[in-house]
Amino acid sequence: MQETNISPANLEMCLKCNLCTEVCPMYAVNPQYPGPKQAGPDGERYRLRDPEFFDAALKYCLNCKRCEVVCPSGVKVADIIAVNRLKYGKPSHPLRDRMLASTDFVGSLASPFAPVVNPVLGLGVTKSVMDGVLGITEHRTFPKYSSKKFVSWFKRHAAEQEQFPRQIHYFHGCYVNYNYPQLGKDFVKLMNACGYGVKLLEKEKCCGVALIANGFGDQATKQAKVNLESIGKADTEVLTTSSTCTFTMRDEYEHVLGLDNSSQREKIILTTKWLFDKIEAGEIRLAFREDFKMKALYHIPCHMQKMGWEQYSIQLLRMIPGLELTVLEQHCCGISGTFGFKKENYEFSKEIGQTLFEDIKAAAPETVITDCETCKWQIEQFTKVPTFNPINILAQAMDFEKTQTLNAN
Ligand code: SF4
Ligand code: SF4
Repeated sequence: MQETNISPANLEMCLKCNLCTEVCPMYAVNPQYPGPKQAGPDGERYRLRDPEFFDAALKYCLNCKRCEVVCPSGVKVADIIAVNRLKYGKPSHPLRDRMLASTDFVGSLASPFAPVVNPVLGLGVTKSVMDGVLGITEHRTFPKYSSKKFVSWFKRHAAEQEQFPRQIHYFHGCYVNYNYPQLGKDFVKLMNACGYGVKLLEKEKCCGVALIANGFGDQATKQAKVNLESIGKADTEVLTTSSTCTFTMRDEYEHVLGLDNSSQREKIILTTKWLFDKIEAGEIRLAFREDFKMKALYHIPCHMQKMGWEQYSIQLLRMIPGLELTVLEQHCCGISGTFGFKKENYEFSKEIGQTLFEDIKAAAPETVITDCETCKWQIEQFTKVPTFNPINILAQAMDFEKTQTLNAN
């Protein structure tokens, strides 16, 4: 792993205002967690003198970046914590953490056997064994695997995609590939209606967010380099449908892994932002079905808030005439990727998300919409409200033929 670019000067920018501590969801529920100011800039002064000052309680940081969003001084609080966890942190359960972090490897093993794997993962006895032996909480519902990978479906449709006059690349991510190909299919449908054929990258690896969170910096760096090389070779922008993959490749590759992604960063764009910008520029038009009716809430994922991109998804969804959309107040859902799957974190994960779950239950919507797949898992588990990506909703609400005609030239 390369050295990162957090300089001691960045620590000196801390004003000791404690605003970061005020908004830290982990500090609010866990007395063992020192909070962002202490874990970040304050602790870093000591760690720079002697790594012995590394505090194992930094493992509780959710990497939600809420501290950085409120910091009036631009201190890279969460980046400081993430870098130190990679440098000095030790996995509490190496086998479990490796399994949870290896989304590509586990997905490629589980997907062909999905009809067996899915029911087995839901059995009480399996959950008890995973809880007792691996330290994966028995209370967690695993996302289902798909027996057909998105890339297999895409290969059968790749030739059709080449017929479109314009092309766009898609970074699908592990969740679309192994668990939820429908999101990828909806993306392709939407792009086709807008007059774009879809291409996949020459090579795509998991963005590495779970590897970073679980302390496997070297593996994350290897995967990041593969992605950056492929994105660099792509002759168009590279669209994504996961806010977390987007954020990881744009910001964490540089800030946490220390990689130079300056020539790729601006090519990596969440689809809702790209689409909104194209509509604003008059380059794309969408038409919607008159019979589409839905009452939904939009949840802002923490990483979406950090990028400042939530308004693109919200404004795009507001273009759907039949969608009654309410935007929820921003609260962390508490799952933080693989964090909420670990036995020792489950209660924290649930408690952090409580306000969000209560807000959703009180509104009793048909649907929640959010750009992050792990927020989706958490919301569905604790509220039972089906939760979708904005791209799923746009693809459902869109009048495909009319949109295609509008974008024919
Ligand atoms: S990233 Fe989130 S959990 Fe970690 S210190 Fe900042 S606010 Fe707290
Ligand atoms: S919000 Fe920023 S300036 Fe204020 S204490 Fe936290 S790190 Fe320091």
